[in-house]
Amino acid sequence: MTSLIDPYSRTIDYLRLAVTDRCNLRCLYCMPEEGLQLLRHEDILSYEEILRLLKICIQAGISKVRLTGGEPLVRKDLDYLISQISKLQPSLDISLTTNGLLLSKQAESLAAAGLKRVNISIDSLDPDTYRRITRTGNLSQVLSGLEAAIAAGLEPVKINVVVLKHVNEELEAFVELARRLPVHVRFIEYMSPCGIFDESFYVSAEEIKQGLAEFGRLEVAEPPLGAGPARYFKLAGAKGLIGFISPISSHFCPNCNRLRLTADGKMKTCLFSPDEDDIREILRSGSEDGYVLETIKRSLERKPRDYGKGSSPGRTMSQIGG
Ligand code: SAM
Ligand code: SF4
Repeated sequence: MTSLIDPYSRTIDYLRLAVTDRCNLRCLYCMPEEGLQLLRHEDILSYEEILRLLKICIQAGISKVRLTGGEPLVRKDLDYLISQISKLQPSLDISLTTNGLLLSKQAESLAAAGLKRVNISIDSLDPDTYRRITRTGNLSQVLSGLEAAIAAGLEPVKINVVVLKHVNEELEAFVELARRLPVHVRFIEYMSPCGIFDESFYVSAEEIKQGLAEFGRLEVAEPPLGAGPARYFKLAGAKGLIGFISPISSHFCPNCNRLRLTADGKMKTCLFSPDEDDIREILRSGSEDGYVLETIKRSLERKPRDYGKGSSPGRTMSQIGG
């Protein structure tokens, strides 16, 4: 039974945990080409600190943990961290969001460690466009990672596609992917408040859905495991579903069940708000677990009811964890 309930009666049972702010790509909507100012090694939560905090959160009712970043697979020994998280509570739903570049080498050991499922970000299935968006990425390497994830049973595998106006509005290849492989393709609205582009790159989920009409009828589908705020549709003959995540055009604030922890241990209760609490400082100051939990609950008391237009987190997605 969870004790994490905010003032608007939302039950908080989902923690998104950034394990690093480093990344092996430079997606043009997420980071400048030269990268961002990186955290110092000592500023990043150690695995021991993460495990202590997770133990406290799980006891308070967190039942889903997503590891993210930066690129989580660049952090050394992530499989070790996952195996230790699994031991805290074997039924915990542990998932990962990754750009997939390092997945072909790691998928099997991550699954063996207790990772349940994976979301892979692939913004284009055209090698040149993919490289243009990621600046350095090799699409075939990511597709090998995708196959490795399926082979390792990290299912349901979901593909994240951030659609940007005039950059990657080619939807047909993703429809074909969902027809050929058992993967769910989710089109995500670009969030300019956490990106480095302005709103002119934004394409609404409704526009994307209309663009898909020529490939067949979309019928409302039961959401797969871990669906979160996405709305899912079936396309005749496809093995996977088509999903839409519309944080801008249709906020999911009333059902928000999330807490976020940045790689440097800042607790955020809303992706779009600059408000954060320094949990790392509390962990390192010798405080008892009870005080850590009280601090998390105090943060939750300030969780905004909804995303206020014009509010900005003061960090980019790679610094928050998406
Ligand atoms: N590096 C990993 C990856 O790319 O999957 C994990 C971190 S990344 C910040 C998490 C997700 O956020 C990715 O799917 C990425 O495409 C998405 N993202 C980053 N910036 C975004 C923005 N401004 N609007 C919408 N999605 C964004
Ligand atoms: Fe890195 Fe993910 Fe941001 Fe791309 S979206 S730069 S892979 S953190």
